[in-house]
Amino acid sequence: MAHDCLFCRIAHREVPATIVAENERCLAFRDIDPRAPVHVLVIPKDHVESLDTARAQDAELLGALQLLAAEVARSEGVARSGYRTVVNTNADAGQSVPHVHVHLLGGRPLAWPPG
Ligand code: 5GP
Ligand code: ZN
Repeated sequence: MAHDCLFCRIAHREVPATIVAENERCLAFRDIDPRAPVHVLVIPKDHVESLDTARAQDAELLGALQLLAAEVARSEGVARSGYRTVVNTNADAGQSVPHVHVHLLGGRPLAWPPG
C-alpha cells in the first residue's frame, strides 16, 4: 500500500467512502463529486498508478475492474438504460488521483465525444 495514496487509504478503510461493492481484488465506491446520477469509482485494492504504468501482469486485474463496474451498473439499475466506463490517464485526460480507477457513469444521457 502507498500510504500517501488517497485510494489506497480508501481501500484500507482509513478514509471513509460509500462502498457499493467489492470482491477480493477490487472495490467500488461512490464518487465524492458525482457528475451523473450514478457515479461510482472502481479501483484495485493493490496500488497501480495508471493505465500508463499497468503491465501485462495487470491484464486480469484491469478486466476485473470493468467486470465489477458492469456488476455495479446492474445493481444500480442503469445497465439496461446504458452507462459509460472511463479511465482517465495522465494530465490531458484530467487524471487527478494517481491510483488507477474506472469511472462508472450512468442515469442520464451521456454526450459523445466527451469534453
Ligand atoms: P480522475 O479525475 O483522477 O479521473 O478521478 C478522480 C475522482 O476521484 C474524481 O471524480 C473525484 O471527484 C474523486 N474523488 C477525489 N477525492 C475523493 C474522495 O476523497 N472520496 C471519493 N469518494 N471520491 C474522491
Ligand atoms: Zn494507491
